[in-house]
Amino acid sequence: MSGGSSETKLVNFAMGNKTRRKIINFLANGNRNVEEIEALVGNKTIDFHLKILQDADLIELTERTAKISEHGKNFLKSDKKSNTEELKDLSQAKPVEIAEVRQLLPCIADSTKFRVIANMAPPLGGVLKILEPIFPRGNYSDKKDSLIIQKGEIITTIYGSGKVVMRMVKNENEAKEELENLKNTINETIKKGIVPPPREKVRVELMDIYKHLPQTNCRDCGEQGCYSFAIRLMAGQVSLDQCTQLKEPGYEPNLERLQFLAAYI
Ligand code: SF4
Repeated sequence: MSGGSSETKLVNFAMGNKTRRKIINFLANGNRNVEEIEALVGNKTIDFHLKILQDADLIELTERTAKISEHGKNFLKSDKKSNTEELKDLSQAKPVEIAEVRQLLPCIADSTKFRVIANMAPPLGGVLKILEPIFPRGNYSDKKDSLIIQKGEIITTIYGSGKVVMRMVKNENEAKEELENLKNTINETIKKGIVPPPREKVRVELMDIYKHLPQTNCRDCGEQGCYSFAIRLMAGQVSLDQCTQLKEPGYEPNLERLQFLAAYI
């Protein structure tokens, strides 16, 4: 496997699921047949999970026997190393408070929305970079010492100095609620002392999204069809739960895949 963007997507997708992580750790101790794996994870969709692991080149499947591949062994080694490093670094972090909400101003990009400037204390400093993976759409910049987090239309920037700028909020109440959520997410992670390994930067293409939608063009979501829905999802204007068809039986693998991709948009 070359380690390119599409391979990274396959591996991240495969390992982003608890059942598949359990399977790969089980296989790290030796080859197993499918029935043994099924007994361990007790999952009726075992063939689906094994196929995902196989597509990501993390396991090899011959007849009904599964074996961890060289790529899978390397992945487990780097995963373990990365977790240990992150644990050590996070032990320096202290819980934060939103000390002050200083300003509520109209947004430059959209005058119907607001921009809030607040202060987080104590400043997160060097810990900010380590926290990037806990936010599905978080992006840390070394140059600016800032972490940009996108959630729907709301864009929040946290600086190492403690300053927080939140853009595209509807009103003061929404800003307060979002700042509280942000504080709780950070503090829960600090309390656990565990941060997931840094995520690879994955580029999501429009067609990646479209091909996993049901493609019935039923319009239940209020869009012209699945392609329009995919465009609006890429723009952060709709959410996956607005597609009613994805909740129907048989679409579970599509939904899981789309949830994974949506975290990288
Ligand atoms: S509800 Fe789902 S299946 Fe129906 S048009 Fe919208 S995206 Fe497509």
